[in-house]
Amino acid sequence: MLQLEEARERILAAVPILPREQVSLLDASQRIVAADLTAPIDLPAFDNSAMDGYAVVAADLQAASPKQPARLKVTAQIPAGATRTAEIAPGQCARIFTGSPIPVGADAVVMQEDVVLDDDIASFVEPARPWENVRLRGEDVKRGSVVMRAGERVTATTTALLGALGISEVPAHRCPLVAMLATGNELRLPGQPLGPGQIYESNRVALATLLANAGAVPRLLPLVPDTLDASREALHRAFHECDVVVTTGGVSVGEFDLVKEAFGQLGGKLEFWRVAIRPGKPFVFGTLGQKLLFGLPGNPVSAFVTAALLVWPAVLRTQGTTNVALPSQYAIAKDTFINKTDRRHFMRVHIDSEGGASLSGLQASHALSSLARANALIDVPPSVVFERGARVQVLRLAA
Ligand code: AMP
Ligand code: MG
Repeated sequence: MLQLEEARERILAAVPILPREQVSLLDASQRIVAADLTAPIDLPAFDNSAMDGYAVVAADLQAASPKQPARLKVTAQIPAGATRTAEIAPGQCARIFTGSPIPVGADAVVMQEDVVLDDDIASFVEPARPWENVRLRGEDVKRGSVVMRAGERVTATTTALLGALGISEVPAHRCPLVAMLATGNELRLPGQPLGPGQIYESNRVALATLLANAGAVPRLLPLVPDTLDASREALHRAFHECDVVVTTGGVSVGEFDLVKEAFGQLGGKLEFWRVAIRPGKPFVFGTLGQKLLFGLPGNPVSAFVTAALLVWPAVLRTQGTTNVALPSQYAIAKDTFINKTDRRHFMRVHIDSEGGASLSGLQASHALSSLARANALIDVPPSVVFERGARVQVLRLAA
């Protein structure tokens, strides 16, 4: 049986990076940029005023005091967006507004609250430091400098910078189309009545939601009955339409093992199955040409946890990043975490706003209320106890 890290490495080694496309900035949120982005202009693009006030030659105010104010003639008015370059000479000043270009000759701006205007004469009662209240060209970003590295994710904050630089689209690797297949004769769709022994199918929508957070574009395909023909037909269609195929159910020992067999009949290569983690030991990974099969267990919690630990990184990798793990953080154990089994146990925990980690409820692999309450997983190695108060590392499932 494979250890988790080995399984992850083998998966990542098989993941194709999808082709690049140009994405408009508005649609680029959460996308991973495919190349370093450099600034096409300086930011600010020109020296401009940080205040509404008066642009001056600082030397003119050197001796200014309340008793002996410096008096300067206002010779220009420079609104924001002024296109003509204004100019002032010693003894003159210019009315200026936030964001307006600094006139040639000026080297400081005095805020209007500190100036008394009498007709066209402005009086200043204290000296100005050179370049005070002036935003200098390029002081924020220099033209040609790298503003985002390949592999970084576009967020609202980076979008603000890219927009200011006049960048309207970014290169990004395509997001993977991910087929969601659920196998099982017992499965019904929400809205349908439940007969004896039947349950609502919940894995496709749960995994689609999880993996969409990693950039997957999920496609929910019809339910698959437990027959070899149906499994093969469903996989055939899924591989035809998508880059990655995720199935749930039908991979555990003792069951029909339909997914593995159907996949083999389509010419798929089984890379491995079974990983030494709990929940989720049965786990199939296979390749069909450049495309990937993830055969997850049917138990909803096992499916969710294996998807978070092993499919999530693959979905990210297709988009060209090497930063593929779930986000992790330290927390303080508020419960005692005991793993008496011989496999690593990924327990569902809730991290509170103070960074305390508590068990989120029943840890059985069918128990969904504890999954719903969880916002993280804690990795408890075999035969290990994390005592209350211990500093523990957790993997975040949600922001
Ligand atoms: P299996 O892996 O097919 O043996 O399924 C294990 C358990 O998970 C069984 O209790 C199934 O009824 C349940 N299960 C399988 N697939 C789903 C699904 N898509 N949604 C909800 N429960 C499921
Ligand atoms: Mg089944």
